[in-house]
Amino acid sequence: MSSIRIHNLSKVYADGTHAVKGIDLTIRDGEFIVLVGPSGCGKSTLLRMIAGLETITTGDLYIGEQRVNQLEPAQRDIAMVFQNYALYPHMTVYQNMAYGLKNRGWQKSAIEERVRKTAQMLEIEHHLTRKPKALSGGQRQRVAMGRALVREPAAFLLDEPLSNLDAKLRVQMRVEIKQLQRRLQTTSLYVTHDQLEAMTLGDRLVVLNQGQIEQVGAPLEVYQRP
Ligand code: ADP
Ligand code: ADP
Repeated sequence: MSSIRIHNLSKVYADGTHAVKGIDLTIRDGEFIVLVGPSGCGKSTLLRMIAGLETITTGDLYIGEQRVNQLEPAQRDIAMVFQNYALYPHMTVYQNMAYGLKNRGWQKSAIEERVRKTAQMLEIEHHLTRKPKALSGGQRQRVAMGRALVREPAAFLLDEPLSNLDAKLRVQMRVEIKQLQRRLQTTSLYVTHDQLEAMTLGDRLVVLNQGQIEQVGAPLEVYQRP
């Protein structure tokens, strides 16, 4: 586990859009922060810069003690879950989960042990030989989380992971994520539009507006302001 430290981070896109403006934020070791704010306020841009999927215009980013500004996504001890799952359709659940470990040169037996352990934790161990299209939405979402968690990353980034699920499943998955969070205590940054999701999951909420932090606080501090 590790903290994520963000110092004066900014992003100006090639067309001049100033999407993120001088963000300062520390996500403490084991803390679960939910990032909320209106569409276009810079949530995805911030997440993608932390993941290394978007270049940083100015500022500094640390994961633990390591400055990661220049590191490729695969070199950062971080995993990301997307709303569209981004599962490989031609691979089985097992292959989807094993893929990142295989690319990192893990031994077959170590991969097998880790995939089984993670699949058990997420209760998808009976689906390991199936392909994504044979699974329900909730199962797919668990596989997507399994693929991210299988590496036991220092930090976990989630971009609206439940937004493609129906209302009932969203509530169920919200509870499951909360339980996982209690068990794993992985440093996490979670983006959502959903106020209930934010209140249930977040140790702290960060409200972003036009690329800047408007408010930081515990869920009740943020949502019970006059
Ligand atoms: P959010 O995730 O909160 O909806 P984004 O980070 O996607 O916000 O977008 C923040 C701002 O940056 C918006 O004005 C958006 O239009 C702009 N933006 C996002 N991606 C790009 C891009 N590749 N090029 C130019 N502008 C972009
Ligand atoms: P890993 O499972 O080790 O992350 P992947 O090959 O799945 O390996 O992903 C490599 C990098 O690309 C990761 O940092 C991941 O966050 C990112 N990535 C994976 N899928 C997508 C996607 N659909 N869109 C953008 N980035 C992605």
